[in-house]
Amino acid sequence: MRWNDDRRRWVIVVLLLGSALWFPPHPLTRPQSLPSPEPTSWVIVGATIVDGSSRPRFRADVRIVGDRIARIGRFAPSPDDRVLRATGLVLAPGFIDLHNHSDRGLEVEPTATSQIAQGITTIVLGLDGSSPWPIAQYLHKRQEQPAAVNVALLVGHATVRQLILGRDANRAASEAEIVEMARLVEQGLQEGAFGLSTGLEYDIGYASTTEEIIALARVVARHRGLYVSHIRDEGDRMLEALEEALRIGREANIPVHISHIKLATASVWGKAREVVARIERARREGLDVTADAYPYEAWASTITVLVPSRRHEDPAAVAKGLEDVGGADRVLITSCPAHPEYEGKTLQEIARERGTTPVQVYMEIVRGGGASVVCHSMQESDLRVFYRQPWVMVASDGGIGMRHPRGAGAFPRVLARYVREQRVLTLEDAIRKMTSLPAARLGLRDRGLIREGFVADLVLFDPRRIQDRSTFREPNLLPTGVEYVFVNGRLVWERDHPTGERPGRTLMPSR
Ligand SMILES: [Zn+2]
Repeated sequence: MRWNDDRRRWVIVVLLLGSALWFPPHPLTRPQSLPSPEPTSWVIVGATIVDGSSRPRFRADVRIVGDRIARIGRFAPSPDDRVLRATGLVLAPGFIDLHNHSDRGLEVEPTATSQIAQGITTIVLGLDGSSPWPIAQYLHKRQEQPAAVNVALLVGHATVRQLILGRDANRAASEAEIVEMARLVEQGLQEGAFGLSTGLEYDIGYASTTEEIIALARVVARHRGLYVSHIRDEGDRMLEALEEALRIGREANIPVHISHIKLATASVWGKAREVVARIERARREGLDVTADAYPYEAWASTITVLVPSRRHEDPAAVAKGLEDVGGADRVLITSCPAHPEYEGKTLQEIARERGTTPVQVYMEIVRGGGASVVCHSMQESDLRVFYRQPWVMVASDGGIGMRHPRGAGAFPRVLARYVREQRVLTLEDAIRKMTSLPAARLGLRDRGLIREGFVADLVLFDPRRIQDRSTFREPNLLPTGVEYVFVNGRLVWERDHPTGERPGRTLMPSR
């Protein structure tokens, strides 16, 4: 090892000498002083503005100075302005993704190409009960190593649960343990989290009682935070799980947000109107309830959620689980550490190839450590009903490197499929669901609208050409039609390429 160290030292000496020889300091190239940080000003000329409020589109020019929208109207650019001609393009506020899983992805790919390519400028992390911890440390890391997008955090319920219960987290907690968890939730909120997320369908969250969550949600309510839930069941017992979320809202006196609202088994297909009616009733009674949805008929999760009773060794329970989602041909294995050869195949295909039954394949996979699956078990008609509600927003449930097309396609897909092709939503309403509505949910007062004085998080896209391209076989294909994206007044995406700029900030709640 010594020899290596010595050799390294020599290499460094030679390099330093070499660079001194090749690049001698030249007195004329030395700057006299640092250039003064002149604010960059842009003028976007001729775009059609869809401002996020759902008011009808209008034509105007927009000047950006520094990180803010300085002027909206008709005016001539001044000589110092950088001019961007945008005739034929729509200018909208940057999209705010309330449900994103780039927690780790940002560390490896802070330019977040697949996110900004969709027009996303702010992502919320820490969903489904699982968050970075400590909150302050993660936010600090994002400040040290900024991303192209802004980042906001939630405290994960399963995360704090595991911190208190340790390895033994699949059980009910004692009163004393709940007090300890509440202390951690409090800490997370003080460090900058916008609220609490739960993932009650997953093991650690599933073991908690409703009373435990009410106790923790009360802490969040005191901080005027938000309760965000992947509810306990999204299939046969979805309505029951919804009632639990509403009860938590009432008893903790807290706004409730249902993550990726869906009806994912055959017995509840077609019940979107009933779900909407129940939420509408709660809203009329004064409960502040909203939801988000991603624009696909397939979910992605761990294979074990197919059997909500958790009787993974009971062939009848497994058979029912597969039947409930419409059959084993709807379950695609996307990642299986014990059997990489299964990846890209459905349970039906694997069973046929191996001369066995899908139930046997399921049990073998679970015994071997499980798998990630994509399951086509939703109805587009239910999704359309959800999207038509003014309190349902667009969120991706995606993120960097996600093995589901929503990771690279969710927002453009809504604009292509549900606005342009099916006309389920007007462009104005769709943009509101991607911008001012999630901004209001987070309490962001200067993002999510195109207004003078607001932060210049902006997206310019071609409404005739915008199109998701990611598929279940090729989930990372980037969309087309998003032409320019600004984050905090700086250009991060320019005609199908990231600029490499990383102006993203960590957002803190304004309470
Ligand atoms: Zn979820």
